[in-house]
Amino acid sequence: MKFDFIIIGGGIIGLSVAWHLKKRYRNKKLLLLEKESGLAQHQTGHNSGVIHAGVYYQPGSLKARFCKEGLTASYEFCRQHHIPCQQTGKLLVASNENERRRLNALFERCLENNLSPEQISPARLRELEPEITGKGAILVRESGIVDYVGICREMAKQIRLMEGEMQLSTPVTGITESPDRIRIQTADKTLEANYLIICAGLMADRLAAMQGLANNFRIIPFRGEYFRLQSQKNFIIRHLIYPIPDPALPFLGVHLTKMIDGSIIVGPNAVQGWKREGYGKFNFNIRDTFETLSFPGFWRLSGRHLGSGLREYCNSIWKRGYLAQVRKYCPGITLQDMESYPAGVRAQAVLRDGTMVDDFLFKQTARSLHVCNAPSPAATSAIPIGKHICGLVQDGPG
Ligand SMILES: Cc1cc2nc3c(=O)[nH]c(=O)nc-3n(C[C@H](O)[C@H](O)[C@H](O)COP(=O)(O)OP(=O)(O)OC[C@H]3O[C@@H](n4cnc5c(N)ncnc54)[C@H](O)[C@@H]3O)c2cc1C
Repeated sequence: MKFDFIIIGGGIIGLSVAWHLKKRYRNKKLLLLEKESGLAQHQTGHNSGVIHAGVYYQPGSLKARFCKEGLTASYEFCRQHHIPCQQTGKLLVASNENERRRLNALFERCLENNLSPEQISPARLRELEPEITGKGAILVRESGIVDYVGICREMAKQIRLMEGEMQLSTPVTGITESPDRIRIQTADKTLEANYLIICAGLMADRLAAMQGLANNFRIIPFRGEYFRLQSQKNFIIRHLIYPIPDPALPFLGVHLTKMIDGSIIVGPNAVQGWKREGYGKFNFNIRDTFETLSFPGFWRLSGRHLGSGLREYCNSIWKRGYLAQVRKYCPGITLQDMESYPAGVRAQAVLRDGTMVDDFLFKQTARSLHVCNAPSPAATSAIPIGKHICGLVQDGPG
């Protein structure tokens, strides 16, 4: 039961790490542990399927760097392995004068992030997208769509072909590090590794706490609720359509996304959740709720964003309010067009002072590396994140 590498978490980050490690160290013994009975059951399997171009991110940040690299790497991976993807391009649409001013700042940000944005006048917007109205827009041609679960399936296949092992339905319950090894406890066995990489998404803080780390951040779950448009509206847009986001929040606003199966989804919003892996509107878990409420950072964050938080709750319950957010740029959508669609839950790391951790965050000990914050665009960025972690591990003990 001794391995060179153990990876916890069978989402896209854990799989990418395992895939890179196995490619680099063919003869090392590697094991991936996943608590669910299948791979990609949480964030990775409940997202919008967008390959982000890297419009919004602070230049020089890990998000900006990995998103740009991930865009190219994701298209390349899909081409090589025949996974459906499509470079649709994306339009960021300003609906009022205030948003038009923010649009200019986003245009500059695109240039700083080495994209090739195009400014679009209202008349040109009507030509490109007859159903969309706005005071102006930016076209980002690089953005696209993909099936992230398909990417995970292919990575898992390759890991197995390279003789990497995977154990599903195996929750990790304890981690103990000593100078010469790291021990991993599951329900029925104790495993040992030279190096452990933890990619636990919504449980990232709990796994860090298991090892005695991370008293300075907590994962706060934000549910992202979607609707799907009735199939007769599948041709209402040609590009992905995004509003201008609130700069105070790390969420992109309710958008219209073409999915790889041809359908169109509306969303996601961002509603504070009371169950980390709870996808229903009224899901509740005592432990998750207690951990949220007992964390000072939650109260500070809520105080800062009380207005927008309550608005998200109201629009979650009141479908007309939700609809209004999309009708401001796509007035042709009606209540009858919106069918139910499964939600996703974002893992957002929050610090004790209430700051939402904006960038990807990793923590290392001598024999472990924890992925503490990997929100969007982490699916886009998964391939370079895995490569980066593989490089960090190389510097660790053999
Ligand atoms: C609503 C929504 C929309 C999004 N849209 C996009 C998008 O369009 N484009 C984009 O790039 N990104 C998007 N993202 C972000 C992206 O999906 C995530 O950043 C990414 O999937 C994170 O992957 P992960 O592997 O870190 O986490 P996950 O996919 O959540 O995987 C973590 C895994 O760890 C396992 N695990 C946890 N605890 C244990 C334990 N104790 N033992 C064993 N296993 C454990 C879990 O079961 C899970 O399978 C979106 C996210 C959401 C929620």
